[in-house]
Amino acid sequence: DENGEGGEEYLFKIVLIGDSAVGKSNLLSRFARNEFDSNSKATIGVEFQTQMVEIDGKEVKAQIWDTAGQERFRAVTSAYYRGAVGALVVYDISRRGTFDSIKRWLDELTTQNDSTVATMLVGNKCDLENIREVSTEEGKTLAEEEGLFFMETSALESTNVQTAFEIVIREIYNNIS
Ligand code: GDP
Ligand code: MG
Repeated sequence: DENGEGGEEYLFKIVLIGDSAVGKSNLLSRFARNEFDSNSKATIGVEFQTQMVEIDGKEVKAQIWDTAGQERFRAVTSAYYRGAVGALVVYDISRRGTFDSIKRWLDELTTQNDSTVATMLVGNKCDLENIREVSTEEGKTLAEEEGLFFMETSALESTNVQTAFEIVIREIYNNIS
């Protein structure tokens, strides 16, 4: 069949969470379409994007959900989290407040989801080194405390974006196989 030998097909729901304007939508557009948009505008209409990734010769469909800006009102619904097996929890290394919010986002993620969620803490905008407010060490420490993967990324410069998503996808795959 079209899925190859074993006929397996994997569909992984992955959610992007974090404060407004940390770069969630741009991380997704960089990953899925290799595009960056310098104008901050709320995602309209599209709930998720699907990206095919190959792991151990198997086709994995990563269904990556982006918010439509509702995080601004802390009104991300349970439907958004439902069924998620992976998450990228994003802050902006140039805005301390977005890092301070991480624990709240993690709480919400665990409250809304009872299964194991492969989670990556992402410090985005690492290109903004000159106005950095959160050190790499702080990010690392928080990730260790919370048992998360950690990576600093730049959607602008395309740094570590692919890797961040792929690590999460690989971990989900390991969790189920
Ligand atoms: P969201 O609200 O979390 O989805 O954030 P957006 O993806 O809409 O990005 C918010 C703003 O930050 C936009 O102006 C983006 O162009 C900008 N931005 C996103 N990622 C980066 C990055 O890696 N570096 C820099 N310098 N700006 C970024
Ligand atoms: Mg967005």
